[in-house]
Amino acid sequence: MIYYKDSANGKKICLLCSYYCNLKPGQVGICGVNKNVGDKIECLVYGRISAFNIDPIEKKPLYHFLPTSKSLSLGTVGCNFHCNFCQNYGISQEKKIDKSRFISPKEVVNIALEKKCASISYTYNEPTIFYPYAKDIALEAKKYGIKSVFVSNGFESAETILDMKGVIDAINVDLKSFNPKYYKSKLGGNLNQVLENLIKFKENGVWLEITTLLIPSKNDSDDEIRAMVKWIKENLGVNIPWHISAFHPDYKELNLPRTSIKSLKNAKSIAKEYGLNYVYIGNVGLENSTLCPSCKKSLISRENFGVKSYELRNGSCNNCGQKIAGVFWKNVKE
Ligand code: SF4
Repeated sequence: MIYYKDSANGKKICLLCSYYCNLKPGQVGICGVNKNVGDKIECLVYGRISAFNIDPIEKKPLYHFLPTSKSLSLGTVGCNFHCNFCQNYGISQEKKIDKSRFISPKEVVNIALEKKCASISYTYNEPTIFYPYAKDIALEAKKYGIKSVFVSNGFESAETILDMKGVIDAINVDLKSFNPKYYKSKLGGNLNQVLENLIKFKENGVWLEITTLLIPSKNDSDDEIRAMVKWIKENLGVNIPWHISAFHPDYKELNLPRTSIKSLKNAKSIAKEYGLNYVYIGNVGLENSTLCPSCKKSLISRENFGVKSYELRNGSCNNCGQKIAGVFWKNVKE
């Protein structure tokens, strides 16, 4: 993939996300990290990692992708959205790029190998804005059977989504609201584009899970949840895992209360009413078991980010044989 194209008067159009910033020489895009440097658009955070951790894959959250495995998780700085409630704002809204250390894709993969990580997650800030770096790492990782995971706001460009096919194995997309006005004025991007992209990820065979941070008075009305769940069911099917996550006051959104357990459970019961098979509540320490949609046996039980018991056999229920949607490796636990 070519990450930019020429436009008039020395301008260049960045093709990484759906903003398609048209940048004059010397100008940086909305994300603050892709710059027209004259002969090209340079990704200024290539090799400049701001956060590095080894996390359980359940923390991304991905519950149906190599459960129990470790994921080397990294992010840079910058974001193409500017959400008031960002829970990683120290990284995402940071403009200063620490250039003291360059970490090559090969070095990242070597760490993943050394730490026995089954995947590398591009997370903490929006990975689309550093896709050139993420892709180089992902291609290197593929040589060793290590998978790649995006944790994203879902505002990739059509070009990036196409390019991710066969490169990025799984994605968790934040579906932040079902209100187009709220997206446009308070978050960034636009709802329709995110919805279109969710469908494309599924069509392209990238394993998809969705997260919604439930924010009191902003996106937690029954009507909005119903509309969202109905859309998921009709466009992605009932087997897409949906994580409903609890908000806590952070960044510029300090005056709202935490999301109540009642509200989280209400959203879950609406999703179950519409027939979604895999609905999980995050950030409040509740148990989040995966039940067989057919015989209802508990197949994976979890506590916080740990897996307590695992009863899948070859990706299917060990009681009734029902296939469970997801990516399950024989050599991880089975
Ligand atoms: S990644 Fe998106 S926000 Fe950043 S410069 Fe490119 S098009 Fe603009």
